[in-house]
Amino acid sequence: MLKLFLPDLYIKDYKDLKIDYLRNKGIKMLICDIDNTLVPFDQHYPDDGVFAFIEDLKKNDIIPVLISNNKAFRVKEFAKGLNVSYYPSAKKPLKITYRKVLNDFQIYKGEVATLGDQLLTDVLGSKRIGLLTILAKPLVTRDINYTKINRLIERYVYQLLERKGYLKRGVFDEQV
Ligand SMILES: [Mg+2]
Repeated sequence: MLKLFLPDLYIKDYKDLKIDYLRNKGIKMLICDIDNTLVPFDQHYPDDGVFAFIEDLKKNDIIPVLISNNKAFRVKEFAKGLNVSYYPSAKKPLKITYRKVLNDFQIYKGEVATLGDQLLTDVLGSKRIGLLTILAKPLVTRDINYTKINRLIERYVYQLLERKGYLKRGVFDEQV
């Protein structure tokens, strides 16, 4: 059960993610969370770093897709200009939106990785459906209100993971 909260890779932020890591794992799609993964939750538009990251994925034949539990107007506003498919109100950690993405793109689970900042939504959802799961440290510590409750539970899950020696908060993985 606890292992459903354990990412396959834990990194400091999206800029540290190596394309070679994804390629070596046979990944052809990266499903990205937005809030506190690509930008702080209250930043409306992608910045240069995000544009470069998305371009880099595309250049390497990895399809970037945005999925977010946030509302349609936020996600649409953010995605505009990036030229990527996006799925708002995703209800992570439920499987429904991950399934929709796999179905829409007719892509095999083993070719898909996810990137997100929350154990209770991004990691749990991704592990439940069986995708390669990458956790990034949240970009900022401020959160929208409903996330604050998740963060309290998350703190407890981190403690359990640390106690088992599975992961240490702030100690990031090598990408091999
Ligand atoms: Mg997030």
